[in-house]
Amino acid sequence: MKNHTSAQISINKLTKVFGNDGRTGELITAYEDLSFQVSRGEFICILGPSGCGKSTLLRSIASLEKASSGEVQIAPSDSGSESNIGMVFQERGIFPWMTVTQNIRFLLENNPHIDTHDIDSIVDHYVSKVGLNKFAAYFPHQISGGMKQRVSIARSFANNPDILLMDEPFVFLDSQTRTSLQELLLNIWQETHKTVVFVTHDIEEAIILADRIIVMTAHPGRIKTIIDVDFPRPRHVSHMRKTSQYHDLINTIGNMISDEISDLMPTLNTTGLSG
Ligand code: ADP
Ligand code: MG
Repeated sequence: MKNHTSAQISINKLTKVFGNDGRTGELITAYEDLSFQVSRGEFICILGPSGCGKSTLLRSIASLEKASSGEVQIAPSDSGSESNIGMVFQERGIFPWMTVTQNIRFLLENNPHIDTHDIDSIVDHYVSKVGLNKFAAYFPHQISGGMKQRVSIARSFANNPDILLMDEPFVFLDSQTRTSLQELLLNIWQETHKTVVFVTHDIEEAIILADRIIVMTAHPGRIKTIIDVDFPRPRHVSHMRKTSQYHDLINTIGNMISDEISDLMPTLNTTGLSG
C-alpha cells in the first residue's frame, strides 16, 4: 500500500536507558523523550555535543538498538515494501579486502530491488561521481581517509536506500577534506533527494547540509529546539560562507545553545565567534 502521508520517519516520545535490562550496574539515559518527524526527501541534521545520544538514536532508527520506551515508525517505501535503510559511519565502514569498486558493488549485488543488468552502470556512475575513477582498483589501505569516506558515500547512495542515516561521517577528516566532502554530499543529495538523517556536533556542518536542524541538549539528550535552515538550494559551501545569512545563522544557533556551548566551541572558534 502506498503511503500518503509525507512523514517517512516518526519518532514519538522515544527514550533509551542503558543498564535497565535486569543486570546490575549504573543506569545511563542516552536520550530522553524525543519526538519529531522527518518528511520524505528531507535532509535533517541532529546537532548535539558528544555523549548526548546521537549515535544511539541513529541505531534506534535503524532498529539496531531497541528503545526503552516510545516508538519509531518508518513508512513503507514507494513500492510498498519495507523501507531500506542505509548507514554511513565515522570510519571503518568499508571492507579492507575489497577494492573501491568491489566495496561499492557488493551491496548492489545483494539488493533484490536492483536489476543485475544495471549494476555496472550504477557502480561506474558513483565511482566517477565521487572522483575515484583512477582509484577504482585500489584497496582501502592504498587511499586516504577522505577517499574512504567517498567510497562509503558512493556505496550508500548507489544502493538507493529509502532513508540514509549518517553518523558524523566527516568528523575525523581535516577541515579542507571535510569541506570538499560536504560539497560532494550536497551535490549527490541534490541529484537524488534521499531522506537523510545526519548526525554532527559541528554547527557549520549542520547549517551547510540541513533543511532542518534538531538541536539536542547535553547528556541526557533531549530536544532543545528545531531550526529551519531556509538557505536556497542548490548550495555551495564556499558561496554560503560568504553570505551574512550564514554567519547570522551560526550566531543565532550559538546563542540558542549557549548552555551546551563548551562542547561546540571548536566550531565557533574557527569562525571567530568565541566568547
Ligand atoms: P553521541 O553519539 O551523541 O556521542 P552516544 O549515543 O554514543 O552519544 O552515547 C550516549 C550515552 O549513552 C553516553 O553516555 C554513552 O556512554 C552511553 N552509551 C552508549 N552506548 C552504550 C552501551 N551500549 N551501553 C551503555 N551505555 C552506552
Ligand atoms: Mg556518536
